[in-house]
Amino acid sequence: MASVKIGYIDTVHGVCPSCEEETLLVAIVTDYYKCTNCGHENRQYVNGSIKYLKLDDKDKAFIERMKQNEEKDG
Ligand SMILES: [Zn+2]
Repeated sequence: MASVKIGYIDTVHGVCPSCEEETLLVAIVTDYYKCTNCGHENRQYVNGSIKYLKLDDKDKAFIERMKQNEEKDG
């Protein structure tokens, strides 16, 4: 059975840790969002309130893996 990927874009409003602006963040993969202001990718961290964190090398590797999986599955 063929599956069709629905191309909706998940966006959230939040403060980017890179440019420290309140901006629109676009989901790239689950829990990871890209700032539309400065273009940095951030990790969404929920602990009572939602925060956005800069990525470390592990996060970057995770995103690459997720992107590849999505391409394969999609
Ligand atoms: Zn930013």
